[in-house]
Amino acid sequence: MYDKKLKIAIQKSGRLSKDSRKLLHNCDIKVNFQKNKLISFSENMPIDVMCVRDDDIPGLVIDGIVDLGIVGRNVLEEEVLKRTFKLEKISFKILKHLDFGVCRLSIGIPTEKKYSGISCLNKLRIATSYPYILKKYFDKKNISFKLCKLNGSVEVAIRAGLADAIFDLVSTGEALVSNGLKEVKVIHNSSACIISNGYNTSVFKRDIVNTFISRINGVVKARESKYIMLRISASKINDVVRLFPFSSKPTIYQLSGKNSIVAIHIVSRESIFWKTMEKLKNLGAKSILVLPIEKMLE
Ligand code: ATP
Ligand code: ZN
Repeated sequence: MYDKKLKIAIQKSGRLSKDSRKLLHNCDIKVNFQKNKLISFSENMPIDVMCVRDDDIPGLVIDGIVDLGIVGRNVLEEEVLKRTFKLEKISFKILKHLDFGVCRLSIGIPTEKKYSGISCLNKLRIATSYPYILKKYFDKKNISFKLCKLNGSVEVAIRAGLADAIFDLVSTGEALVSNGLKEVKVIHNSSACIISNGYNTSVFKRDIVNTFISRINGVVKARESKYIMLRISASKINDVVRLFPFSSKPTIYQLSGKNSIVAIHIVSRESIFWKTMEKLKNLGAKSILVLPIEKMLE
């Protein structure tokens, strides 16, 4: 029975956990999450969700212990490079890149230090939780570094006298600045992704994965899209349509008792900026509404 369920690993608590749970929720996978439980069960789908540390997710997927995992590409890449270095066999697939967990892995040095290119870091001691990604980049540049491997608090390593530079996750850069550091080189861009172990050979599991991925596509597409409603003179329909080149064909409604005024509804594939709203207003549009879309299936 247990094997008749798809197992998905997500981060237990941290920067990916809220968005991962929200993604499952938006795909109508109802999970009764219980505090401190390793496995939670879905009430409406044959899916079990394992809540673990993000660093364990790539290994759980690659080793076939779970079928799918939601993890940052930074953590995935580090695990893959580590296993490659140890000549281990690796089998996994990225099924979908997601629109959360956006960050980058960068080199930071003290603000007052001069940076004249990557080779000025040659032979320095660098603190990081990502030694394999760093090594791959330094090898490519034909330079070397001394490793200070830390699993946390990397940003204080220089002040603590443990390292000359750091290689760490950056999102806004504020944490670097508040620690007296500057970002000098971005080495890896990352966001969350869904990975599968490639062992999903049973038709049953493949079907659930396909349903899940199709729903995610709908959720992501809906998040990027907007529903626009407005009223305008019928003679301006083409001018309005030209403002939305990436949209599907608009729906036009005749307003009762007003032959010359129509209501236009458009699904836009991109965010609507104030500039577009102002252009609509200049064309004479009234009652302009821009609404978020929850789900989309095409
Ligand atoms: P764990 O206890 O699970 O090991 P952690 O402390 O290693 O957690 P978090 O800080 O929660 O990890 O980050 C998890 C992942 O979220 C990172 O590996 C990265 O992919 C992504 N991430 C990092 N910083 C940000 C950010 N500021 N915004 C969004 N996502 C981020
Ligand atoms: Zn972690």
